[in-house]
Amino acid sequence: MIPAILQVKEKKNKYLTLKNFNLINSNFTIDSYSVFLERSGLQIDPNSKLKIELIEDHNLRDEEYHIDIDDNITITSKDNRGVILAFTTIYNLFLESSTIKCREIVDYPFKRHRGFMLDCARHFFSKEIVMSIIEEMSLLKLNKFHWHLSDDQGFRIKLDKYLNLVDDNNFYSKDDIKEVVDFALRRGIDIIPEIDIPGHTTAILANLEGLSCVDTKLSVGVLPGIYGNALCIGNEFTYLFLDNLFKELASVFIYPYIHIGGDEVITSNWESCEKCRKVSKENNLKSNHELQGYFNKKVRLIAAQYGKKIIIWNDSYSLQDSSFDGIVQYWQSSHNNKDFKKYKSGNKEIINSDYFHFYYDFPSFFGGLKRTYKYKSNYKNIVGFEACLWTERVLNHEMILEKLFPRIYALGEKNWSFKLNYHKFIKEIQKVSLVRLEKGFDINLKYLDKKNKKEYLRNHFKELSKMEYVKTTFETKFGFLNSLKFFIYYIGFKGLIIINKLKKEEKNGKN
Ligand SMILES: [Zn+2]
Repeated sequence: MIPAILQVKEKKNKYLTLKNFNLINSNFTIDSYSVFLERSGLQIDPNSKLKIELIEDHNLRDEEYHIDIDDNITITSKDNRGVILAFTTIYNLFLESSTIKCREIVDYPFKRHRGFMLDCARHFFSKEIVMSIIEEMSLLKLNKFHWHLSDDQGFRIKLDKYLNLVDDNNFYSKDDIKEVVDFALRRGIDIIPEIDIPGHTTAILANLEGLSCVDTKLSVGVLPGIYGNALCIGNEFTYLFLDNLFKELASVFIYPYIHIGGDEVITSNWESCEKCRKVSKENNLKSNHELQGYFNKKVRLIAAQYGKKIIIWNDSYSLQDSSFDGIVQYWQSSHNNKDFKKYKSGNKEIINSDYFHFYYDFPSFFGGLKRTYKYKSNYKNIVGFEACLWTERVLNHEMILEKLFPRIYALGEKNWSFKLNYHKFIKEIQKVSLVRLEKGFDINLKYLDKKNKKEYLRNHFKELSKMEYVKTTFETKFGFLNSLKFFIYYIGFKGLIIINKLKKEEKNGKN
């Protein structure tokens, strides 16, 4: 099973067949087992001889669960989260076979922040796609979905106060968000929304006047890249806007953290802006980095009014905010500043998304399975590893899955399991992939080994059309070359062609 379980004691020659069961429940809510019923198709039947008993034990750790599978099943946990995870384990066993070898399981996570980020700003993905990714995360016991909702290329939440921030079709209503939050919660997953500020804000600045240092009329970004626009730090409307924004975010997102980005800010407009200069002077700020630190502190205090703490990228951490009580998410060492260097050598919390190892928009050979699995962090106090999928060049669900699998398995195991064994893990991927194939789930064929691949193609050849067969064979055979080609596109001259194509596609889409 992925992720590997901490302790399993199998019982000799004893099996249980999982079928409709009688649930004996002390204090857990329906949210702890509703997803298991949906996934497995099993039902609660008070007349069934098979009992699943849920027992509360406050001495267990967060997310710890124990399962005893014998004539009946007993699950012990502190709260709903543990029960959800226990049922995830039982479901993963059930996928392999409804007849399960009896065993005792003791399991709890290595890291508490087991994250995955999806960029829904560069390209928009429907709530159904988002929920399908959350479902995949939950099967791997990941527990934080970081939802990148605003960038130069789009703002994706329809707010009550600022209706025009979104474009006509590609946004989430508050009801959509509530639905996704509830869907995630029932899978043991918290959602962290990210509104990237003060840089990466072209979509906001283009659709709402009065937030910029300059009067230039902007249009929402289309091309990838870093845009030279930022919120004005010296403008009172900036903070009024953020206050209203956070108030609305807090009304739909229940997890106590909001991500405010802060990476890659182009500060040239701040330098020529009278209002920004005035703030710098009055507060004795010696650099634009300190000015951003001043901004972060103001935003942190606004967030706190609505019961939220902030998460920021490592670029933007500043000692200007001496009472910073959020979390810093690390992505690239070249974006470290001297303040962050102090932060990381202290005892403060870091989410680690080292981009060579956890940026899944890179082709898989460049930031692949092994890179995630074998990553060694230099930092102390890592609360967890988070993979990020930026979507400048990811256009649809299929491409998301191609980027995700099988790397997300490594993310799951690295975050959950105390003892890592790459060799065993690769074998497990084969097993999990074959089970998934059989059940009609998505998998990436490239990562099946030769024997399994041949077997699969032989079995499925009859069902495929000629074109599909050629395509499948090509994809399985030339996976590496494809990746290499993509890499050359990524850094080289072909990039321009792709960019132009994207630009045309987006324009056509809009018209
Ligand atoms: Zn300004």
